[in-house]
Parts: sequence; C-alpha cells; structure tokens
Amino acid sequence: MTSTTSTEFLLLEIALPVPLRRCFDYLLPADVSVDELQPGVLIRVPFGRQELIGVLLRVKTETVQEPAKLRAALAIIDSHPALDSELLDLCLWAADYYQCAPGEALQTALPALLRQGEPAQLRGEPVFRLTTEGKGLPEGALKRSPKQAALLAALQTRHQLNRADLDLLDIPRSIAKTLIDKGLVRIDEVTPVPAPLPAQLLGEQPLVLSDEQHNAFAQIDYHHFKTYLLDGATGSGKTEIYLQAIEQTLKQGKQALVLVPEIGLTPQTLERFQRRFNLPIVALHSGLNDRERLDAWLQARDGIARIIIGTRSALFTPLKEPGILIIDEEHDGSFKQQDGFRYSARDLAAVRAHRLGIPLILGSATPSLETLHNAIQGRYQYLRLKARAGKAKPPEIQLLDIRGEILHEGFAQASIDAIGDTLDKGNQVLVFLNRRGYAPTLECHDCGWLANCNHCDARMTVHQTPRHLHCHHCDHQRGIPKRCPSCNSSRIQPIGQGTERSEVVLQQLFPTQKVIRVDRDSTRNKNAMQKLLVDVHSGDPCILVGTQMLAKGHHFADVTLVVIIDADAGLFSTDFRGAERMGQLLLQVAGRAGREEKNGRVILQSHHTDHPLVQTLVQQGYHALADLILHERQITQLPPYRHLALLRAESKQAIAAVDFLQVARQMAEQLQAPQPFFSYLGPLPAMMEKRGDRFRYQLQINSAHRKPLQQLLSQLALQLEASPLAKRVRWSIDVDPQEMG
Ligand code: ADP
Ligand code: ZN
Ligand code: ZN
Repeated sequence: MTSTTSTEFLLLEIALPVPLRRCFDYLLPADVSVDELQPGVLIRVPFGRQELIGVLLRVKTETVQEPAKLRAALAIIDSHPALDSELLDLCLWAADYYQCAPGEALQTALPALLRQGEPAQLRGEPVFRLTTEGKGLPEGALKRSPKQAALLAALQTRHQLNRADLDLLDIPRSIAKTLIDKGLVRIDEVTPVPAPLPAQLLGEQPLVLSDEQHNAFAQIDYHHFKTYLLDGATGSGKTEIYLQAIEQTLKQGKQALVLVPEIGLTPQTLERFQRRFNLPIVALHSGLNDRERLDAWLQARDGIARIIIGTRSALFTPLKEPGILIIDEEHDGSFKQQDGFRYSARDLAAVRAHRLGIPLILGSATPSLETLHNAIQGRYQYLRLKARAGKAKPPEIQLLDIRGEILHEGFAQASIDAIGDTLDKGNQVLVFLNRRGYAPTLECHDCGWLANCNHCDARMTVHQTPRHLHCHHCDHQRGIPKRCPSCNSSRIQPIGQGTERSEVVLQQLFPTQKVIRVDRDSTRNKNAMQKLLVDVHSGDPCILVGTQMLAKGHHFADVTLVVIIDADAGLFSTDFRGAERMGQLLLQVAGRAGREEKNGRVILQSHHTDHPLVQTLVQQGYHALADLILHERQITQLPPYRHLALLRAESKQAIAAVDFLQVARQMAEQLQAPQPFFSYLGPLPAMMEKRGDRFRYQLQINSAHRKPLQQLLSQLALQLEASPLAKRVRWSIDVDPQEMG
C-alpha cells in the first residue's frame, strides 16, 4: 500500500503519454497563477531526460511520491483548457473501464498538433470577397469564362467564400486568382465565428417519410438521454431519418455528431449531408492533414461546425452545444480500436450521450447481437423499418449449391449465365470475394508443399500486380519461386480465388465489358476509390469485383445482381463471432443489389447449403439468424449474456508468454476465486499462434456481472504492471474484445 504525504504547497496531478496506469505529480511552473491551472490545460513537464506534454487533471496538496523528488512543471502551453471537463471525464472514465493508462486515453482524444504543443485556437482563414469594382459588375458579366462567371455569381449571393467552398463549387483556385488580378475579388483574413441559424436551413426538401419511417422518427426525444436502435434493411431509409433528426437538432441550435465505419465515409455520404443542410459541416477522415484535423476539431469545439461526421476517434470531438449522437452501421468492427486504448466508440457513445443527456441513435441493417439484445431487453428503444424506402424492393436471394459442380475459376455456370444476362439487359453486376490478391496461396502439385510464411502460422497470398508472395499478417514479402522449394518440381500453382484472379477471369469471360476491381490494393492512392467508381456511377453496364470495401456506404443505383463467390468463409471460424459476422457481411453485400427502381437478385455460392445457419439466413433473414445465435450464446455463456475480458501476451519465446499468463491467472484467482459466475480459461494459444515471429497466448476471463470483472481487472493490471515478468512479454488487456484471435 502506498501512503500519501500532505504538503504545504500546491501540486499538479498530470496525465502523461506513457503506458503506465497512473498519473504524475509536479510542482507548479514558475510565474503561473493558480487561476491558469484549469483541469484540461496542457502542460510541458520534464520526464526522465525528456520533456513531455501532459494534461492537467487537478491541483492538490497531497502526493504518494516522495516530496523531495518532485520536479517542477516547465510551462503551460495555453491557459485555455484543451479538453473541457466533459471530455476529460469521459476519457478518464474510459481509461478506467478499458484498463488503459489515463495519459494514453487522453492522447486519443487530442489532435496530434495539440499533443505537440500547438495552442488550441482557431486561426484566421482567408476568404474571398468582391471588391467594390466586383460588386459593380452587371449580372451576366464574364460570360465568356463560365468558371469565372460561376465564382462571381456565388460571391454575389453568398458574400464570401472560403477555400473549401471553392472546392465544393468545383472552382479552381487559379480562377479566383485571375479575378483578384482583375481587381474584382480580394482576399480577407477572418477568424471564423459561429454563424446564426440561416433563414434557409435546408438546401433541399426532406423526403416525405413513409408511415414506418415516421413512426420511428416520431419516437425520438431530443431533450433526454435514450439509446435508440434504428434497425432497418439496407435502403429502408435510415439515413433519411438521421437527416430529419439532425434537422430537429439544428433547429434547436444544437450540434450533431455522426460516426460512420472507417470505409463508410465516402464522398457520397458527405455530399448527401451537404446537399441537405446550409450549415458548416466538418468531416474527420483519414485524408486530412494534422492542421486540417485540428481546425475541424476546433470548429466543432467553438460551435462553428454544426454537423461533425467522422470515424471512430471522432467520438472524442469536443462539442459546444451537443444535441445528438448517431452511429451508422453500429455493428461495424472498426468502431472498436484493436490496439493501445482498446475502446469501443459505440459503447462509449452511450456513456457520452448519457452524461450529456442527449439521444443516441444506433443504426444498422444487421445490428450486433449486443445491441440487439439490449433492444429486445428494453434497455434501448427499438425502432424498426421493415420495408425498403421509395420504390425499391428487397433483393431475392438464391442459394446456389456448388457441391460437385465444375467451377470455372470459382464461378458456377449458373452464376456466369446470370452475369451475362444482367449485362445484356444493360445493368451492373457486383462480385464479392473477401480475399484480396490473386490466390490465397501457392501449392506444389507433386508434393503438396504450400507457401507458408516463415514468421506466422499463415499462408502467403499470391499477388500478380506486382508479382510476389505477401503475408497479410506480418507484411513479409518474397518472390514467387519457379520451382518447388521442397521437391524441385516445376508444377507449382496458385490455389483458390482472390480478387485479382476473379478480375482476370471475368475479363476473359466478358472481354467487351468493363471490369472494375475494388480492394485495398487498387485503392491505395488518394482518391483512387472515387476514380474507380466514376464508371460505376455513369450507369453503363460493368462488373465490379471486390472485397468488403464494396459492402459499406456505397449506393450503386444500377447494380441488380450480386454474386457472392464463397458464402461459407465465416461458417467454421473458431471465433465465436464468426457466424454473426458472416451473416452481417453477406446481408450488407446483398443489400447493394437493387437499391432503386430496378429489382435486385443475389446469388450465394455455397458448399454448405444445408447448414442451419446458411438456411436460416437465406430463408428467414438476419433476425432469425440472430435469434438462433443468441440462443447458442446463452447456452455457451458468451456475450451478450456474459462479460468477457482477454489478457493477451506475446513473446518470441512461447514459454515466456505462457508463464506470464499462468502467473497472471494465479494472481487473478487470489483476487477473485473462480466460481460458476466467474471463470477463467487459459492460457490458450491465440487463433494464429505465431505471428510476426511472436508467439501469442491469451487468458479469457468470463463474468456474469460487470462489476466484479472491473474490480478484478483494475487490481490485476496494477499488479502485473509492477511484476518483473511483465517486462519479458508484450501484454495487454482487452475489455469486451471483438476479435478473439
Ligand atoms: P438506408 O440508410 O437505410 O440505407 P436511405 O436513407 O439511404 O436508406 O434510403 C435509401 C433510398 O431510398 C435513398 O435513395 C433515399 O433517397 C430513398 N428514400 C428514403 N426515404 C424515402 C422516402 N420516405 N420516400 C422516398 N424515397 C426515400
Ligand atoms: Zn513439391
Ligand atoms: Zn507472416
């Protein structure tokens, strides 16, 4: 037990960006008055031989550190707190819940530039305005240059435009410069301030809600905390409900925060919001540089941005007037961070909305079983949309038994015929295969040798462009051998299908058609995705082939056929969430078919057409599948009926990881003895035991109640941190793990 000493003088308790589950005490820096010491202020401090920037948590007079050894903080970065008390408390709560060092959790909430010592203040930004001469121009001037005329017209109606406005209007900066040279336009530097609600809030009329949509929409209470599950098939009009709920929020002078999956934040999504509202919207996406990200963050904090759309970490955006939180595709795995601060943005959103007293809407066509369970139990208000919105009808799903079929590079003849028919009718086809590369691996036909990765328990994927073998788990790469390394035979061949191979095959089968491949490799460059999709959005017949990147956020008006090459991929996964994920993915992909007037059709190729999970999914849909899996989870005592935590350890020597977990288990059992409602499992090897030359093991902790699990974990974490064994392995705690691997 540590004891506290009471000091005569004031001390600062500071969270530092180090992986230790504690805070650090410092003496006040010179020349600082106490009123500058607001919690949330960033402070530069000495730490060992380096300097770090930390977050002030509080001022106090007691310390567990030895008073003689206390050092003085160096300087306050900015006396305006970077984090307000709401976000500060949320981060500290989350650090505690997810067993993460407080300084590390706070790092996630802060934009990179603030962490590096930049002041948390908005810069002035250049805006374009008309000069007196420009204002004097008659209507219809500059007709000979349509872009110049467009800029002039925009400035006449909107008084001023910033750079982002120019981009939205598709007016190149050079046009602005020409008008500046002509003396018609000038640049002023202005500091943005929150604008009053515009008279014309809406840029387009909202759609008239269907009865079902209206029924869901009318239940939302904007003045209290409540979590709503908006459960509606793809295309059932969930986004329209978000838009109308946001409209209500904006009208009350409040802001909306919308989280979308990592690959769901497409220009299309953004445009839809921008078309609807004449208000500043910021998007926090991976394409922003640090400065742009900080600007967006500050605009949200100062109330300039009224709608904030972003991926996982945008949950920590400060809001001046928070009004509503929305999480689209709430089941998506990207809302859970898989390393460091392993938080779930979805679950934390509920905590944040609760503290703010505002509504949270979780939307999905295939809700996670945790969320579904909460809705069924009545903890969340359950809003359901059963029909598709507008004229679209649900796609017809056809299960294609491919046992014993002769497949043409993975395609059954019936699938090829259906693709041909669809193209002949002038429609588009989407072929789904959740494996990038050319083929899952290389095999020797004579001796059975397989291209294993030397560093992982995994096969190396064959890639053709450029030609190489690539391990998708540790990134190891090597050339494709001409002869078998084991028996020297030249008969080595790629086996199985990847997206590159399907692209080649489809191009051979349909030589006159355009085949567009969308996966991580083909979309690596900036804007590559947009360029690839230009042809799709033109509406001409084409074949899209790709991975789950195609399953989210896209709206393909002319896709009428979806072919799923291998429906069985998730069926025999050792992760207990395998079946749930399979169902979600298949339905999300299927949902790309027939989103508008044209009817959609889905072909599911399967070797296990009799499997009860496949049968249930196809015959009765996702919710029947969910019921089935929930029932199983209840019997096997898994989430959402139980709470799980994983203690993971990895090391170059398997024995070190196993030893560490064995000791951890003993420590844990001392703190909380095993009993029917509280159990331990392990140490067990992870699903991929060796990865990147490290051996990976885990200890599962399963509890019927949240509280004893939390108590155990926080004590265990501190004991492990102090243990010498912990220095020999890499270890981490994952609370509510999503990936069991
Ligand atoms: P989801 O978010 O559930 O996939 P969307 O809100 O994107 O659904 O709606 C799917 C399509 O249906 C969109 O093209 C949308 O414009 C249209 N839509 C939505 N609601 C209505 C409505 N009430 N009346 C007519 N069309 C609608
Ligand atoms: Zn061989
Ligand atoms: Zn590897």
